[in-house]
Amino acid sequence: MRTRFAPSPTGPLHLGHAFAAILAHDMARKAGGRFLLRWEDIDRQRSRPEWEALAEEDLRWLGLSWDEPPLHQSARLTLYREALGRLWARGLLYPCRCLRRDILAAASAPQEGAPLIGPDGVVYPGTCRGEPRTGPLPEGVALRLDMARAIEGIAAEAEWEETGTLPGRQRLDPAWMLRTVGDVVLARRDFGTAYHLAVVVDDAAQGITHVTRGEDLRDATPIHVLLQHLLGLPTPVYHHHRLIRDKTGRRLAKREDARAIRRFREDGATPQDIRRMVGL
Ligand code: GLU
Repeated sequence: MRTRFAPSPTGPLHLGHAFAAILAHDMARKAGGRFLLRWEDIDRQRSRPEWEALAEEDLRWLGLSWDEPPLHQSARLTLYREALGRLWARGLLYPCRCLRRDILAAASAPQEGAPLIGPDGVVYPGTCRGEPRTGPLPEGVALRLDMARAIEGIAAEAEWEETGTLPGRQRLDPAWMLRTVGDVVLARRDFGTAYHLAVVVDDAAQGITHVTRGEDLRDATPIHVLLQHLLGLPTPVYHHHRLIRDKTGRRLAKREDARAIRRFREDGATPQDIRRMVGL
């Protein structure tokens, strides 16, 4: 078993992170497996090495150790471009120059009704789908997956196992993919890649057998499974866990400093206190 904790270094780790990290760590340790760390730092504007250093300190304080040097997504752009190149060569991607407001406007045009919001935001209305798909992989422009083409012939065999809050065997649903996911962005104009692509490439590169992460990412899983099939990568087991909420029931956000592990440490809490606070 190989599990991972994959935060973005854009703020302090809070109780929600502690829960996710401890869960992945303990799961691997119990099975005699390995626990890995990955820094999802493709957003160069918001990622800071200071947050990373502080987070690693918090994790060590919590008693967690990782078995391999942490992976940095910022250093792996060539690998993401290589994966994109393979999808591009098969005509599965197209360049998109739409701005967020264009997409919203097109998606909410009177004949369209209310815009559909899927796991990846507003479902793209397809404005750029007719853009040429020839030549070298375009640079400096967003790239979208042509979902209709991507799911052709794949859906039948694409399955995965969930062991978290809603356990069971799952199967890719092509109609749902088309209707509520649509043509997702696999490369952002400014980053050269996007979360869905990077996470799939990296989980495979790190040999992750069990992805543990918050329930908020459950609906992104079919996108990841589809990409694994398109890229010939193995599909891990997915374990989506409950989210840690504050007293008012709101999800903890990174910008809220109040629940930062660092704060609890300064106030004299012990790692056992943190485990108790998140219900472990
Ligand atoms: N980087 C994501 C986060 O901080 C986690 C991605 C994942 O676990 O797939 O929420």
